[in-house]
Amino acid sequence: MRYLVLSDVHANASALESVLEDARDAWDAALLLGDLVGYGGSPNEVVDRVRSLPIAAAVRGNHDKVGAGLEDGRNFNPAARAAALWANESLSPDNLEWLRALPRGPVVADSGVVLCHGSPADEDAYVFSPRDVLDALQAHPGRLILFGHTHLPMALRLDELGRLADRSARPGQALALGHEAHRWLLNPGSVGQPRDGNARASYALLEPETGRWELRRAEYDVAASQAAILAAGLPSFLADRLALGA
Ligand code: ZN
Repeated sequence: MRYLVLSDVHANASALESVLEDARDAWDAALLLGDLVGYGGSPNEVVDRVRSLPIAAAVRGNHDKVGAGLEDGRNFNPAARAAALWANESLSPDNLEWLRALPRGPVVADSGVVLCHGSPADEDAYVFSPRDVLDALQAHPGRLILFGHTHLPMALRLDELGRLADRSARPGQALALGHEAHRWLLNPGSVGQPRDGNARASYALLEPETGRWELRRAEYDVAASQAAILAAGLPSFLADRLALGA
């Protein structure tokens, strides 16, 4: 099975469209790591488009919970909260219901790949430091654990001797996940709001049978997504950051 791995699309319809165009014919089913809505100006377009894809497994993100009306976003910063509450008001009843039904991670796909938004230990936790990585790997026995939430692409390997290594490769360069005794924590980066200083949409392709992981970046129409944010009356800072990838 060839998976398209998407995380943190954040209501950015043109970024999603570019990713689907860039990845065409290279995948069979999608794995969704959460945060389809929030920050961006096109929540319905994004949820409609994602629902039209063959989805193998999905989890919800923290912004999805607020967008779906399951939480009130009290713990969000003001701009993030404004965008998530606006998504909640804007989503069609059908899309709201679909979003509300997304499961909390971790979720295990048929292939044994594990999906979570933040960490298998806590769907809202951020995995940044080596300590966070070890906590995440201890919380679930899965060999391949996919996560999002930080908006930073990552490929970290734990070997049979308990050594942790950063194996992040350049976009377009496939990574061999190889060895059965090696465990991986993999983040495809963010489709709709990259934060690693690269404005291009980030996503990944994964083939568990052959142990192949490939991070990819796709150029998209940033101006169109900025216009959608401003047209929705959301804080202009959310539009500005898209051009910076920050
Ligand atoms: Zn996010």
